[in-house]
Amino acid sequence: MKRKTPTRAPARRSSDPTRRCGLCGSTTKHLTRTDCCGNWICDDEANYVLFSFARNSCHRNHDRYTLCSSHHHERHPGRWQDCEKCRKNFQTEMYVWYGTNEYNFEKLENPPKFEPTLCDTCGRVIHLGTDGWVRHPGGKYSCERCGDKQMRQLMRQERAPKEKSKR
Ligand SMILES: [Zn+2]
Ligand SMILES: [Zn+2]
Ligand SMILES: [Zn+2]
Ligand SMILES: [Zn+2]
Repeated sequence: MKRKTPTRAPARRSSDPTRRCGLCGSTTKHLTRTDCCGNWICDDEANYVLFSFARNSCHRNHDRYTLCSSHHHERHPGRWQDCEKCRKNFQTEMYVWYGTNEYNFEKLENPPKFEPTLCDTCGRVIHLGTDGWVRHPGGKYSCERCGDKQMRQLMRQERAPKEKSKR
């Protein structure tokens, strides 16, 4: 006995399926094409609240946090995926993050390996692309928590009267 598999009519899309934001998939927002790679993207830069550091604008995220756009702004020749200049511009961890984060239409294949960045104070792994951190002179990093603590200590020291002052 043959079983009948239900057949479904192919879903019809009212709008052009190629015109959707390549990052968030939105078809409803106003779309524009990126200067760097010509992909459709939400034209939402105007929604960005100044100094909010929010990462909710597709256009801004691609513009600020990808090799694709940096490569374009720096006017490097060729593809960003095999650009030596981009590779040298950033420390490896940031290079990998800029090339593989969710703001990319096309991600870096075979990203180079790197040693994780550790907090100089507590030893916790810091993800430079997504975590908060403080960079000290000399190239050491503190995680956000230790950085805050150090900052508060510094301020306390400055406010406190000098105990060992000679009379
Ligand atoms: Zn979008
Ligand atoms: Zn791009
Ligand atoms: Zn480049
Ligand atoms: Zn720490």
